[in-house]
Amino acid sequence: MKAVAVTPGKPNSVHLQEIAKPTLSQIPNERGVLVKTLKVGVDATDREINDALYGNAPPGDDYLVIGHESFGIVQAVGSAVKRFKPGDYVTATVRRPGGSIYDLIGTYDMTSEETYYERGINLRHGFLTEAFVDHDDYIVRVPEGLKHLHVLMEPMSCAAKAVHQAYEAQRRMRVWRPEVAYVLGAGQIGLLTTLALRLKGLQVYTLARGKAPNLKCQIATGFEAHYISTSETSMQDLAKKTGKPDLIVDATGNSKLAFDAMSVIGHNGVVVWTSITGGSRQIEVPSDNINIQWVLGNKLLLGSVNANREHFEMGIRDLALGEMMYPGVAQRILTSPVDGLENYKEMMRLLVEDDNALKVFVNVADE
Ligand code: BGC
Ligand code: ZN
Repeated sequence: MKAVAVTPGKPNSVHLQEIAKPTLSQIPNERGVLVKTLKVGVDATDREINDALYGNAPPGDDYLVIGHESFGIVQAVGSAVKRFKPGDYVTATVRRPGGSIYDLIGTYDMTSEETYYERGINLRHGFLTEAFVDHDDYIVRVPEGLKHLHVLMEPMSCAAKAVHQAYEAQRRMRVWRPEVAYVLGAGQIGLLTTLALRLKGLQVYTLARGKAPNLKCQIATGFEAHYISTSETSMQDLAKKTGKPDLIVDATGNSKLAFDAMSVIGHNGVVVWTSITGGSRQIEVPSDNINIQWVLGNKLLLGSVNANREHFEMGIRDLALGEMMYPGVAQRILTSPVDGLENYKEMMRLLVEDDNALKVFVNVADE
């Protein structure tokens, strides 16, 4: 069957690869779920993989099938699988466990090992192919009523984890009632984080370069957040108006902005970094100033990557509630469909060149 793959280490190597069809028998103990791929989303991580800045092939292979934002329909299940049946809509988690205690309890997103295994990204093949099989532990049901949001399940899981981690960490405060949050970046993670925080009742300011009116602003304001163009109002000036925020989530993909957030966060606040920056950029930072502010303000910096099954379930609940609160808004993120795996060049072109593409995804097959 057809798959879209890269040759890791070789820039711009995206190509069509012929691979073997998956079978249920590849998964031990009758726990396999065989999924027909319907749609797969791509994001900046896929761009970095194709730029050879990131990602590795599975051991023994010289190619990596990309695609980690999956959506499909169950075709067959092993006899020990109780949670899924043919015809269910599903997505799959991305990381697979290593050997640390965190991996063993299902929190592979928190592995303490340096090596991590991620389908479509690192050491495991991805989903940008006609079908895939996996252990039922890694398959997550998508409600039929959310199938129009298909490839948003995985990015939403990362947003849900970032927000949940902030709340978990802030238990250190005994009482934490955040009121103002800044979300840096209005790409898919920024907008989905905006939604998650609005559903928690925060006043959310979503910051991005572009001036309104634009789609990002329409989506952010559709979620009843404030859209701030940083070409008009800097984060520092915004903080003078709103007071320093209790929470900042950076999803810009720009490490300078991630550091800038450190000068703006309020006392007892938390900054969450979510960007994957595979480059080698260096900047100067006002280290004495940040150091003293952070000590005197008991501030916290948190990195957040990936998502386990619970975060997928949280994200799916948020998307469902989001549809009730802000009907039709989330689907506006799904800007840029490409039909068929064979159009992988157009997929990469949109990903690299089209600044208006909030979400590029491939329609792999119809039901
Ligand atoms: C994916 C995550 C992954 C991260 C780091 C992101 O694009 O959505 O699942 O953990 O990249 O590889
Ligand atoms: Zn991703």
